[in-house]
Amino acid sequence: MSAPIQELVLASNNRGKLQEMQALLTPLGITLRRVAEFTDVSPAETGHTFIENALIKARHAARASGLPALADDSGIEVRALGGQPGVYSARYGGEPSSDAANNQKLLTELASVPDGARSARFVCVLALLRHADDPVPLIAQGFWQGQILRAPRGEHGFGYDPLFWLADPQCSAAELPAEIKNRQSHRARAMQALLAQIQTDL
Ligand code: IMP
Repeated sequence: MSAPIQELVLASNNRGKLQEMQALLTPLGITLRRVAEFTDVSPAETGHTFIENALIKARHAARASGLPALADDSGIEVRALGGQPGVYSARYGGEPSSDAANNQKLLTELASVPDGARSARFVCVLALLRHADDPVPLIAQGFWQGQILRAPRGEHGFGYDPLFWLADPQCSAAELPAEIKNRQSHRARAMQALLAQIQTDL
């Protein structure tokens, strides 16, 4: 048990993620700060799992800020590729990383895979550390199931969204308006799981 958290530093400089997560944390009286307020150094994401990478980022942000820290690590797992690109999703198409190169590489790798065998899921892991050396971090996971298309569709979102087909409501993730994606996505599901833990375990 510890004092309730009032401020958290988010180990991401993505303003969209900050706004999305802040909206969910406001009812708990928690204010998010950006890690860029404290450091412009990003740690190397050397983990082999989403959990390890989320912990690396959260620990770095907690150490730089002296505040409790929240980090997310996410990516896409494709069943026909044995779960690849997984933790390497951001740089799958090579360096410097780009969404276009990542999507092209995924289409090439799956060129001979039939429509019935193109299932995939987005994964998000969140790690919350009360301080840099917290031995009992809160960890939450969220998944979003879909299929990989044969060509991109839609203009919204980012990353692999244009290739990610949702059986319900029969569109790609890039065809969903942001407010709907933000309620259904792997990140939204992980945040809901984390909120439940914050309310019971902190
Ligand atoms: P990060 O955790 O924001 O660094 O995301 C890692 C990589 O996973 C990104 O570069 C994207 O390629 C992919 N990714 C994570 N979340 C999403 C999403 O919601 N839509 C599309 N791609 C995503």
